[in-house]
Amino acid sequence: MIRVGVSGAAGRMGQAVCEAVEGAEDTELAGRADPALGVELAEILADAEVVVDFTTPDTALANATACLKAGVHAVVGTTGFDLDALRAAAAKSAQANCFVAPNFAIGAVLLMQASQAIAPHMPECEIVELHHDRKLDAPSGTAKRTAELIDAAGGNVHRPIHSVRLPGLVAHQEVIFGGEGQTLSLRHDSIDRRSFMPGVLLAVRKVGGLPDRFTVGLEKLF
Ligand code: NAP
Repeated sequence: MIRVGVSGAAGRMGQAVCEAVEGAEDTELAGRADPALGVELAEILADAEVVVDFTTPDTALANATACLKAGVHAVVGTTGFDLDALRAAAAKSAQANCFVAPNFAIGAVLLMQASQAIAPHMPECEIVELHHDRKLDAPSGTAKRTAELIDAAGGNVHRPIHSVRLPGLVAHQEVIFGGEGQTLSLRHDSIDRRSFMPGVLLAVRKVGGLPDRFTVGLEKLF
């Protein structure tokens, strides 16, 4: 059994992660940290082998760094903060690994991979990302990562990335490629937060065995 602590356990994602960890056969919930529960992350670190962090852009870096210093592997889903600073913190870690995914949904990862395949052939493109109206960061971490990957594959993502925030939405993204006389659109919709849970559990199972201290992207775990 892998002992898993959840940071941001009272949040929308954190609650779904707690349910997924409790429901899986090979994981057990070691603790829930969240200001709303009156429990600090430091209080659950001693009991956890892995901590999953879905908190806020201003706390994720400190949370993940605290995990690494305590020798606890960190799986980070929080978006909108400086990943280079976390990479630097992970490089100093003696024994714990850090895994980050801007999107834990398999469909979103497949959209990124398909976009990379299309980019050399139809380089001009725009990204529209749509999320619920309480999301703190814009553009989304998924959209920024998709743009990086498309640009690296020879595409030309037009800026700005378009961010839509409305009640009723969960997490959605469209990539529209335009060529002479044609367009090609890819769209992914997370309509329930359960879409992220298989990816979160995969990361929990694999983070301890990763070859590098710092890894970004769910596709690295396949
Ligand atoms: P949320 O509902 O606002 O939940 C965040 C929770 O973290 C809140 O309960 C918050 O408490 C708590 N928190 C704040 N500081 C904390 C700390 N230092 N230690 C422990 N808990 C702390 O947000 P959400 O919708 O779950 O999203 C969380 C993050 O995940 C966002 O960055 C979002 O973009 C990202 N996300 C990623 C994916 C992915 O696949 N990677 C998917 C969906 C969402 P307070 O309310 O008291 O501040």
